[in-house]
Amino acid sequence: MTLIEVNKLNFSYHGTDEATLRDISFNIEKGEIFGFLGPSGAGKSTTQKILIGILKNYTGSVKIDGIEINKVDKSYYEKIGISFELPNHFLKLTAIENMQYFSSLYSKKIDKSDIMKLLEKVGLKDDVDTLVSNFSKGMKNRLNFARALLHDPDILFLDEPTAGLDPVNAKNIMNIIDTKRKEGKTIFLCTHDMMIADLLCDRVAFITAGEINITDKPKSLKIKHGKRTVIVEYGNGAVERQEFEINNLGENKDFIRLINHQYLLTIHSQEASLSDVFINVTGRDLT
Ligand code: ADP
Ligand code: MG
Repeated sequence: MTLIEVNKLNFSYHGTDEATLRDISFNIEKGEIFGFLGPSGAGKSTTQKILIGILKNYTGSVKIDGIEINKVDKSYYEKIGISFELPNHFLKLTAIENMQYFSSLYSKKIDKSDIMKLLEKVGLKDDVDTLVSNFSKGMKNRLNFARALLHDPDILFLDEPTAGLDPVNAKNIMNIIDTKRKEGKTIFLCTHDMMIADLLCDRVAFITAGEINITDKPKSLKIKHGKRTVIVEYGNGAVERQEFEINNLGENKDFIRLINHQYLLTIHSQEASLSDVFINVTGRDLT
């Protein structure tokens, strides 16, 4: 079932001549993680802000559950969880006080014990009573992420959820996102990190300069647009290495000769990475 339908979305910030988003169209199915992958300045955060109803003067159509986002009422915010790219906490309150304040904005009753569990999940168990002004950037980001999950929303909008996190914490946040998908949540995820897009997303849209270049499953993108190769290593002493494109290998005399080499060491097939595909399709890299 399609939950989010975006059709020919165009948007310009007030006072700018150039359009920030141009004819963006995509659908998000209920229960999928949909990735928005693109370099800085591509328009990911702008798109998220339109989807959550903050930026309104767009043209085209943005429907959530069949209702144009211009027309949704406050009940929409009970259903969605948002983490912004830049955390906005009350610095003079502790982590738990921040969470309790934001809990109070929802009609659903949220127990302190549930908040504690959530903070523990994101690795902030020992910091619940610390003033957020004393938090590191990564801790603020993790608190920001936890806040998006407070009211157990059906739809999550996550803008660069692992930015500024060390690998262990980033992996933990990725696991939580994956668990949310297993619970049936629908997730819109903005990232410039191809690893996250590849590992986590059911489908991903490549976005550059306000336009979507392509949308597909990461695996399909790699098969259709990536160069797949085989690397053969051989040698007695010094290791020689030769790379072949996977294309009629059975008829490639050099390849056949090498795999019958007296000192054959390894044969490895290589799948293109999503960032290779990104460069092939968009002509740009992700940085
Ligand atoms: P991304 O999230 O992909 O890095 P953004 O959506 O933040 O990209 O930005 C897209 C473009 O819009 C950039 O060129 C950025 O400079 C511009 N932009 C973002 N916010 C504003 C704003 N409030 N006013 C004017 N231009 C903006
Ligand atoms: Mg952004």
